[in-house]
Amino acid sequence: MQIRFDEISPQGSRYEIKGGEVLADQQDFVVRAPLDAQCALSRKGDAKVALTGRLQVALSLVCDRCLGQYDVDLESDFQVLFEVESAESWRVKDLDARIADLDSEMLDEPVIDLDDVVRQQVYLALPMKNLCSEACKGVCSQCGTNLNVAACDCVEERKALPFAALARLKK
Ligand SMILES: [Zn+2]
Ligand SMILES: [Zn+2]
Repeated sequence: MQIRFDEISPQGSRYEIKGGEVLADQQDFVVRAPLDAQCALSRKGDAKVALTGRLQVALSLVCDRCLGQYDVDLESDFQVLFEVESAESWRVKDLDARIADLDSEMLDEPVIDLDDVVRQQVYLALPMKNLCSEACKGVCSQCGTNLNVAACDCVEERKALPFAALARLKK
């Protein structure tokens, strides 16, 4: 969804992005329940638009440790300030960003690609580490067994080794 600055009403405009198309073809997750994103856009002068939004989506991720799939429900609030690039905007950018305390994004043209924004926000809302749980035991580096599901003999052997060596010494 492309929103031109001049389409946004002086009172502000609301847009809704629903469904799965925005997140289709993403390699990093599987969408379990379609995205629901609400965005409110309001004009801040000729060259600026402030966006406040909220999104909800249910995803399946792959755990980095055990490679198992696990589910996350994401909910995120976000704010972005869009500004059309100009010589002057560069000069005042730092000051403005600090005052507004918003993530600001420079645009070449006064057009916001809302799908893109929402997709970015989904990625920002993803956990830093893909772990099915903090306590995930991962897979055995020797035999590949998922240690959350089953124990394997490699672990047993490693633990048993010092005792076995001791026992041999005593003989
Ligand atoms: Zn895991
Ligand atoms: Zn093993």
